[in-house]
This record gives sequence, structure tokens and C-alpha cells, in this order.
Amino acid sequence: MLIELKDVAKRFGEGSLAVTALDDVQLLIDQGEFVVVLGPSGSGKTTLLNVVGALDAASAGTVRVNGVDITTASRRELFDFRARTVSFIFQSFNLFPGLTAWENVQFGVDAAGSDADPGAVLDSVGLGDNADRFPSELSGGEQQRVAIARALATRNPILLCDEPTGELDFRTGVQILELLQEQAGKGRAVLVVTHNREISRMADRVVELSGGRIVSDGAPRGGKTPVSELNW
Ligand code: ADP
Ligand code: MG
Repeated sequence: MLIELKDVAKRFGEGSLAVTALDDVQLLIDQGEFVVVLGPSGSGKTTLLNVVGALDAASAGTVRVNGVDITTASRRELFDFRARTVSFIFQSFNLFPGLTAWENVQFGVDAAGSDADPGAVLDSVGLGDNADRFPSELSGGEQQRVAIARALATRNPILLCDEPTGELDFRTGVQILELLQEQAGKGRAVLVVTHNREISRMADRVVELSGGRIVSDGAPRGGKTPVSELNW
């Protein structure tokens, strides 16, 4: 298993002010899986991604990712893990505004020490003709494609996507999710967080969170639905 969470809990704060963001989480994710994490605001989705990506430490339980037990790893191991194992994609794209699309993607290459060709990666997300543009010269959907290209350029095996369609219209959002789903087809593990149940219907697997607990894990209710039948 690429990702293995066992008895994971995450609490913020102490005593009567403590908030339980994750509780009794059990989760196994293999390479090649496209998993949508669905839940309302405050249900623990971002905390779950941050725990998997070693941006935050679990309060209890074990988290093994790509053979590394990140609950016991040294700082040095965690540093390597973040550079070489996980790539994050965010709601607000988080591109460098003063760098072109090509330069933003080259940043991903440098960060991970990969050998990817930024132009080829931009081509693969349909942005080959926009390599010299700055983020402000691109639409929201195009900016998110650059962010995905930057993540792919690392060649890291896990993509962690926190509400990647949150700032996009529904149609553009679904196109971005299809692009992410394609990456799972190429062997990566892709976790996509959303609060949009309609969008989750296109997934093979939906992990539903409520109050920090996984309340269901499996095919979407009503089965996997072709994107063309989603309602917007
Ligand atoms: P989601 O991404 O589903 O909206 P989060 O994972 O951000 O949910 O938050 C889950 C719960 O943990 C919420 O109650 C939130 O207020 C709380 N929480 C998240 N981060 C912190 C933090 N750094 N300090 C205190 N509470 C936090
Ligand atoms: Mg969140």
C-alpha cells in the first residue's frame, strides 16, 4: 500500500478548548487510485491531507506513506519525503506571479531534483502554447493546469489536492478533475478534497468525512457517473 493510516487521530489545542479534527481514521490507498475525500467545511479534509503529506503530525496512530513511517521519521527523512513523495495542489493555485508558466513548472523540477522537461509537462496538460505567459495572463482553469504541471514535474508518486476546483466554475472544475483522474491512470495515487457531492459522483472511490471520522468509503452513491451526466 502506498498510503496506510491506522487508528489516526488529530487534536488541536488542550483541555476544554481541544478540537478533534480526525478521529479513529483507517485508510488504505494504493498506487493508481483516484480518491475523492468528501465532507462539509470543518469535517477534517485539509487536516487529513496535511497528515498524509507530513505538513502536520498525527496526535495518535500510525501513518505510513511510500514505505516511510512518518509518525517516527527523523526531520531529515521528513524533509526528503516532502520533496520526493508528495505534491500539493491548492484551491488558490499558489503560482509564483512573477514567474512564467514554464518557470513555475521548472520550480517543481528543481524542488524534487527530477529530470522532467517543463515544456513537455505543460504540453501534457494542454498548455504547451502558454509556456511564456504569466499567471495573470491565464484563466483560472489554465492557472490550475500550470499548478498541476508543476506537481507532475516533480514526478512524485502522490498528488494531494485541497479543493482544487473551489475557485473554478463547475465545467472547468470537472475538466480539472478529469485531468487529475488521468494521473491516477498513470500510476500515481491522487487524493482530491471537495465539499461538492455532485463532483464526487465521477469518482471510483469516495471517502466521506463527518466530524473527523470516515463515515463511508466506496463507490459513490448511485454508482460512478459519466461526467456528461453530472448536473450543473
Ligand atoms: P475542512 O478542511 O474539512 O474544512 P479542517 O481539516 O480544516 O476541515 O478542520 C477540521 C477541524 O479542525 C475544524 O474544526 C477546524 O476548526 C479545526 N482546525 C483545523 N486546523 C486547526 C488549527 N491549526 N488549530 C485549531 N483548530 C484547527
Ligand atoms: Mg479545508
